[in-house]
Amino acid sequence: MTDYSGTDIYCDLIIPHRTDGKTTIHIIKETEAILAYYHTKPFWPTHIVVTPKVHVNSLLELDGTLADELLAVVKEIAEMVKTEKGAARVTTNLGEYQDNKHLHIHVNSGDPLR
Ligand SMILES: [Zn+2]
Repeated sequence: MTDYSGTDIYCDLIIPHRTDGKTTIHIIKETEAILAYYHTKPFWPTHIVVTPKVHVNSLLELDGTLADELLAVVKEIAEMVKTEKGAARVTTNLGEYQDNKHLHIHVNSGDPLR
């Protein structure tokens, strides 16, 4: 996973291999449509990724019930981080800022690690 060089690690590795040992993610919450897990290369001391299990390019293409389901999990994770750490950020990247071309929401807390 560390040498992955594609543009959609979620569809290529994380989602299909989340439970077979080919990835080593620590899942926090999984619903039928949504996966939340600790980032494998965290940028903040607390860094959780929430992503839909079906492919969605970015926030700009998210709608309908999937949007509701994703936001519900994001809120739950964000509340957990806020309660544990006292503060949380919720972000997603678009365009040039988005390295992986599969919608994912970062929930994080603390000062950047690098
Ligand atoms: Zn994808």
